[in-house]
Amino acid sequence: MRIVLLGAPGSGKGTQSKLLIEKYNIPQISTGDLLRAAVAAGSDLGRKAKAAMDAGQLVSDDVVLGMIQERLSKPDARAGFILDGFPRNIPQAQALDAMLARLSQPLQLALLVDVDTEVLMKRITGRRTCSNAACGAIYNIYFSAPKSPGKCDKCGSNLAHRSDDNENTVRSRLQVYEQQTAPLVTYYKAQGKLRTVRGTGSVNEIFKNVTDIIEVQMRPLAAAMSAAQAAAAKNAPPKPAKKPAAAKAAAKPAAKPAAKKPAAKKPAPKKAKKKAAPKPKKKAVKKAAPKKAKKPAKKPAAKKPAKKKSAPKAKKKK
Ligand SMILES: [Zn+2]
Repeated sequence: MRIVLLGAPGSGKGTQSKLLIEKYNIPQISTGDLLRAAVAAGSDLGRKAKAAMDAGQLVSDDVVLGMIQERLSKPDARAGFILDGFPRNIPQAQALDAMLARLSQPLQLALLVDVDTEVLMKRITGRRTCSNAACGAIYNIYFSAPKSPGKCDKCGSNLAHRSDDNENTVRSRLQVYEQQTAPLVTYYKAQGKLRTVRGTGSVNEIFKNVTDIIEVQMRPLAAAMSAAQAAAAKNAPPKPAKKPAAAKAAAKPAAKPAAKKPAAKKPAPKKAKKKAAPKPKKKAVKKAAPKKAKKPAKKPAAKKPAKKKSAPKAKKKK
């Protein structure tokens, strides 16, 4: 399952994410972790990220997406992943979709863990933590109050209230979240990928609802879609003689005369309807075409399997 998790601070989506990781044996991809790891490893993207951060700037979406893409190429992400904390806005969501389309691994589910604002307020502002670091017990004055106010049940130490958990701060945090997330909810709803689970009740009840969504709704849908794609691939062999051979093999030997255009589309053979080709095509044209012959140059240029990378992966799709 390829999942984007949406949910406010205090919604409990982190807990649900952990349970999903265990049940489906898929990794959670957190952009914060990726950034730290890339910076520590000193990779290309890590250096770019560090330069931005050192300059007090946001790390660009391109860099973040590059990190996500690298992460997705690891074997443990083959069966899916959970993205948490990304995307945060529509341009990021679009860029993510484009990248996943190139990998033929489109998102399958945008899961919103929905909790009323007033409940979120109580969850966050009511939080109290044992000041004894060795204990660290957590309470909530509304939902799981200590037996004697302000004192830890376990060790008797005073309970502390984080200063940024006060009502005004929390309310503005939730507003920011709301502003960011509402457009994403609309975006994924329009794609038919949004499912909402009520984030109230016991952790297990919520998780039961989450897995029902996955097993009963999303998985059959995903299976039907890949079956349809597979069928389409089989039933449509007019030019696909090359198709089975994979892009590399096919693109070159492919007849120069007729097959030029299809070759350029390789990344999205038939399975994925999205055409990821346009960008690379342009680049290829610029480089390859001297000057005068823009149009004639296009075809030969397009033939170059600029897309080598994405095409082979397309086959591995699950
Ligand atoms: Zn304690």
